[in-house]
Amino acid sequence: MTIRTRIAPSPTGDPHVGTAYVALFNMVFARSQGGQFLLRIEDTDQTRSTPESEQAILDALSWLGLNWDEGPDVGGDKGPYRQSERSDIYAKYANELIEKGYAFRCFCTPKRLDELRATQMQEKKPLGYDGHCENLSEDEIAERLANNEPYVVRMKVPREGQCTFNDMLRGEISIDWAQVDMQILLKADGMPTYHLANVVDDHLMEISHVIRGEEWINSAPKHILLYQYFGWELPVFCHLPLLRNVDKSKLSKRKNPTSILYYQRMGYLAEALLNYLGRMGWSMPDEREKFTLDEMMAEFDIQRVSLGGPVFDVEKLSWLNGLWIREELTDEQLADRLHQWALNRDTLLQFLPFAKQRMETFSDIAPLGSYLVSGMLPITAEDLQSAGMEDDQLLEVLQFALWRLEAIQQWQRDNIFEALKGTADAMDIKLKPFLAPLFIAIAGSSSSISVMDSMALLGADMSRARLRFAIDLLGGIGKKKLKKMEKAYQQLN
Ligand code: GLU
Repeated sequence: MTIRTRIAPSPTGDPHVGTAYVALFNMVFARSQGGQFLLRIEDTDQTRSTPESEQAILDALSWLGLNWDEGPDVGGDKGPYRQSERSDIYAKYANELIEKGYAFRCFCTPKRLDELRATQMQEKKPLGYDGHCENLSEDEIAERLANNEPYVVRMKVPREGQCTFNDMLRGEISIDWAQVDMQILLKADGMPTYHLANVVDDHLMEISHVIRGEEWINSAPKHILLYQYFGWELPVFCHLPLLRNVDKSKLSKRKNPTSILYYQRMGYLAEALLNYLGRMGWSMPDEREKFTLDEMMAEFDIQRVSLGGPVFDVEKLSWLNGLWIREELTDEQLADRLHQWALNRDTLLQFLPFAKQRMETFSDIAPLGSYLVSGMLPITAEDLQSAGMEDDQLLEVLQFALWRLEAIQQWQRDNIFEALKGTADAMDIKLKPFLAPLFIAIAGSSSSISVMDSMALLGADMSRARLRFAIDLLGGIGKKKLKKMEKAYQQLN
């Protein structure tokens, strides 16, 4: 059997370190056994998927040194590799399931489903579809179709017994069917959901091993049932442990930068980041910390993955990155890398139109522009407080601005301006005092170039990371307070 694995990112946001970690293990597993690794874009959620996000994911994974044998950019004979270009295929398979009696059309209105959910919550019953449309008569279905009533296609799921399957790392897993919802396979607009598209594609693309994050374990019964309904051979399932914050909670951007672009911007070496991701739950036989991709490939054994939640610790990563810089790069190479990274003409040309107005000598460029090539700035809580706001309001300004900025799709000056002005207006604060603490958080001083321009130059990831850093400097926002702030924020909008 040829081993074929895949990474199947949804292009709905920044390229995530978790995606790179799962991609790495898929690639190394397949290639170390002479198999193939492919990349498929799962963009069935058309409201959240964007071409920019897809491009950023492909670029970030390539930057790390990952590459795929088949994919939307490199082609292959099992394409197209973008699910939005495969909708006819899914509709055909959904119909096949209806004909075989394994799926049914569900005409329930959103209102009925909301009410059902509310009742289930009230009665503390498990949430899920109640089978209302499972046994409609042929006549009734025909009549509703003739009336053009919108419908979704749901899969039938046994209500009793258990689904038992084997996981390559975890052994036998059993999940009660009663916990498995009658999943929607095709939405009212004819687009498939993740579950249908994922299974159909894994089969058609001849994926032999489905290696993915453990958050998908509960979906496995639905997938297995679909394979059985279609009469297809099951792939081997392997659910990797999720990356964790230092406090062991699930890796989240509130506690830890999660975007690969952030690490790129900070000036981590791709090799070091990839090396660190290879250390997530896995170790070399001799336990050494520093190794290359080729060395990992040569020694790889997936059974060495340990399931005790791997911690993605930025301090550890920085230490490893330092080792790489010192031990693997000559001064010449380091100079080239710094040049590729940010110490180059492009960076200067972006900044000079702003800096020029404030320069008297060349040497002014360093104090003016150092924040552009820095990571977190050497600022203190007092610096932020010097903007003259009470701490509570200061935290609100920073957090509300951050939330608004997180919603920006296209990171451009005008959009940043609109987000900040909108937040200031909604909070009833004049723009100038509103921006004052942001200047300090973003550029380290209130005398920098416009904070909107600074953010545009710094990029989304670094800008947001600095705002989070400023919030932390002020003591952070506890869970309770965050909930309150979320409410206040929603009322503003
Ligand atoms: N599109 C899914 C994701 O974004 C893929 C999950 C899987 O690998 O099955 O993670």
